[in-house]
Parts: sequence; structure tokens; C-alpha cells
Amino acid sequence: MSALDGIGAYERYVGKATVRRIEAKARPLRDMHVLHMNSTYSGGGVSQILSSLTLLMNSLGIQTGWRVVHGPPDFFSVTKKFHNALQGAEINLTGRKKEIYERVIHENAVRNHLDHDMVFIHDPQPLPLITHYRKKSPWVWRCHLDLTAPNQKVWNYLVPFVERYDAVVLSCGEFGQDLKKPQVFFTPGIDPFSIVNRELSESAVDERLAHYGIPTDLPLVVQVSRFDHWKDPEGVVRAFEKARKKEECTLVLVGNVATDDPEGAEVYRSLLAHKNERIIVLSVQDGALVNALQRRAAVVLQKSIREGFGLTVSEAMWKGAAVIGGNVGGIRHQIRDGETGFLVSTVDEAAERIVRLLRDPDLGQRLGRAAHERVRECFLFPHTVEQYLDLIGSFEPEFRLRGGVGSSCG
Ligand code: UDP
Repeated sequence: MSALDGIGAYERYVGKATVRRIEAKARPLRDMHVLHMNSTYSGGGVSQILSSLTLLMNSLGIQTGWRVVHGPPDFFSVTKKFHNALQGAEINLTGRKKEIYERVIHENAVRNHLDHDMVFIHDPQPLPLITHYRKKSPWVWRCHLDLTAPNQKVWNYLVPFVERYDAVVLSCGEFGQDLKKPQVFFTPGIDPFSIVNRELSESAVDERLAHYGIPTDLPLVVQVSRFDHWKDPEGVVRAFEKARKKEECTLVLVGNVATDDPEGAEVYRSLLAHKNERIIVLSVQDGALVNALQRRAAVVLQKSIREGFGLTVSEAMWKGAAVIGGNVGGIRHQIRDGETGFLVSTVDEAAERIVRLLRDPDLGQRLGRAAHERVRECFLFPHTVEQYLDLIGSFEPEFRLRGGVGSSCG
């Protein structure tokens, strides 16, 4: 089963009533022509979301396409700096950076003829596209970043682009900004049929771990993430080193590098210095390995410093893992501390929770069962589809958004 089989396949997870409700909401929108545009087909949560979302929307009769911004390395270097600044980092916002950003987006606008009934632009990379079209339908900016404390220089520069949109979608209420346009809040979902999440037999798990030479003689402590400082892999290594003094275990850090993130290779290289018999660092794109690790881990960490919404957190929770997440951004909505996992703010707290979970496997199982149920209720893909349908169906003439759209969970 997969998203190609349509929304009916998800009935086993979310029930008949939810599937029927989604089908009913899609019916009046049939034959609409909708576009999503972001900056990469692979790597990162947005591409995971769009690959399932676009398939499911088409199966519901809404003609939904997916395009990607093209640009040279300079462009992605600038946009990663904007990404970092929007999550609170410092930036030297020069005229040259703005010029590269706006020129490459202008080039993309010339190549892309957008006359859809609805346009979704994801994240800051393609944001200025809107300035190049005579708008004849609603345009929505969907920002997946953690906007808890954006760098004001960059935010003030981007606001005039943002305010041309008819609505802005953010992942949680705390990210809301002072804007002239309506803001709605969607908590993203995961697809239980994707390669990362689908059922995997014990022997298939063994096979994937053996393929990469991952030892299973000691409990596994795992973090799966793009190699990015915001994910704090350095903090994970320090927490592991502290925990290992009290309980024996093996750390596995698995990451990939998104095509729109030029910093990944450097972060990966810096982690190689920590590699040893008990610290395994792998840079691969293998969804089945991610799946196997999240299933086999005694503890899954996502010790982010900023996080719009960690799909890896929901993925591990879905598999009944004991998850320790950074007490930031969207992760606070995903994990209820002490009920569906642990939230931590420091390396010491992370180390203490690792030790506690290694010493008390029953605790891990209890948290994991509650975590699975929480994901089923709130963070599975049908909810994502329904949120988008609600949004698409809520635009009035003149592209005004009716109220009441957004997440009921979280
Ligand atoms: N992922 C993967 N391989 C990796 C690292 C991550 O397939 O080595 C996937 C992960 O399973 C998740 C997505 O990439 O589906 C990352 O999404 P998340 O929201 O956690 O973080 P982002 O990269 O978008 O900041």
C-alpha cells in the first residue's frame, strides 16, 4: 500500500468516518488545478510531505503539481543563510545576497508559467516568486521553519514579499508574526506507508543494520537528521558520552544532505572526528535504514535547538520508540513530557533521560505506546490532507480567507 492507492488505504489507521469526511471535502474541489513549489525533491521534511500530499490530492480528483526552484550554489548558500537567520542566527544581509536571491527567483518566474487555481509556495527560497505574476487566484506561503525568534533584519526584508500572499501557514501558534495577512497553523503529518514508516519485519530490520555494520550487542541510541547545526548532533554526542559512563550503549547518527542545504557536508565532516567503535556516523539516503533504526533503537533523540516540526520525532513515536526531543518549537506540541516521550533543554538532561530509559525498558515501552497513539490521533497524513482541503475550500471571492481553518490537535 502507498499514497498511490488513495485515501481509502488509510482507513485502517484513521477510521472510515475520517476517510469519508475527507472525500466529501474534496468533492466540491474536484478538477481544481493546484501547485506546490519548494526548493528540493529530496532531503528534508518538506519533500517528504509533498511527495505523499501531491499523490493523495490527485487521487482525490484535485490536479496537484509539484515544482522545484532551480538555482546555482550561490543561491542556495544565500537561502540557507536566510533560513538560519529566520531561526534566529546572525546574518550579514548585504545587497549582494538580496540581488542573488531576487535575480534567481526572477529567472525561475520566467521559466514557470503559473496560472493555477491555487498556489502554495513553501519556505523562504521561492518566496519572492509572487512579485512576478498577475495573480488570478489565492497564493499561500507555507513556512515550515521555527519562527520563535526570527532575526529582524531578514524578517523585515522578507515581510513585503510575505504580505503579498493571501494567507500564511505556520506549524504552531508560537510562530505567529505581526502580519497584515491571515495566519493559520497546521501541524504536519507523516505517511504510514512511506519507505521510512511502513511495517518492517524483524529480519528486514536485522538485514538493514547488518548491511551498514551497525552492532546490535548493546542498546542503540539513535538520532536521524539532516546534518545541520540546528539538530545539535554535537550535543547528542556529548549527551551520549555522559550517558555511556553509566550505561553501555552504541550511538548511531544517521543523516542525509538536502540539495538545498550546502552546509550539510561540513557538519558531517565535523562529526567524523567523534567516530569510534561505539559512535557510528553515517551519511546515506536510505529510508529503510531510518525505518529500521527507529524500530530497533532503545532511545531515539531529536535534540534540536530550533525545530519547526520534527517529522523524525513523529516517525519514531509512530514506531513506539522512546523519544527524547529538544524542548523547542514544534517538538513541544509533538511530545508531552513524561507521557509520550521526554523534552530536554540541556546535554545533562538528555544524558540523564538516556540513562533512565536504558535502565527501565518498561518505561520506554509505556512512553512508546502512548506516543504511537498520539501520532495516530493527530499527526498522520490524512490530517494533513484534510487541513489542505479545508484551506483550499475556505477562500472566498477576492481571495479572502474564511476563519476556522487550522489544526485541532497539537
Ligand atoms: N530523513 C531521511 N534520511 C536521513 C535523515 C532524514 O530519510 O538520513 C528523513 C526523515 O525520516 C524525515 C525527513 O527526512 O522524514 C526530515 O524531516 P524533519 O521534519 O525531521 O527535518 P527537516 O530536515 O525537514 O528539518
